[in-house]
Amino acid sequence: MSADCIFCKIISGAIPCKKIYEDDEVIAFHDIKPMAKVHFLIVPKLHVETLKDCDTSHQQLLGKMLLLAPKLAAEQGLKGFKTLINTGKEGGQEVFHIHIHVFGGGKTDA
Ligand code: AMP
Repeated sequence: MSADCIFCKIISGAIPCKKIYEDDEVIAFHDIKPMAKVHFLIVPKLHVETLKDCDTSHQQLLGKMLLLAPKLAAEQGLKGFKTLINTGKEGGQEVFHIHIHVFGGGKTDA
């Protein structure tokens, strides 16, 4: 848990989210500014800033997050989807708590 991390605040319940999945290690919720008709984030409860900060100790957790993508996408009615992990400021990352974006259903009109 990191005190000024927005995703840690979502995980603790301090900030609301449109949750689609939760277990003891992972939460998934809809992105607040969707870039596709369906756009959700898969987020570990463990605060790890970026993919660059991961090592073999995170292997099980990362695999679990990745395998949740098709399961949750199907639950959201998607037949196919895109995944994205922005890594570092130069990689377009804005929230420094690792997460997988899942997009599908076509682009939004916004
Ligand atoms: P990234 O650029 O990969 O760090 O993406 C961060 C994502 O988090 C963006 O798509 C934001 O729209 C999303 N986001 C930021 N704050 C919230 C929030 N409170 N609830 C849901 N999604 C959020």
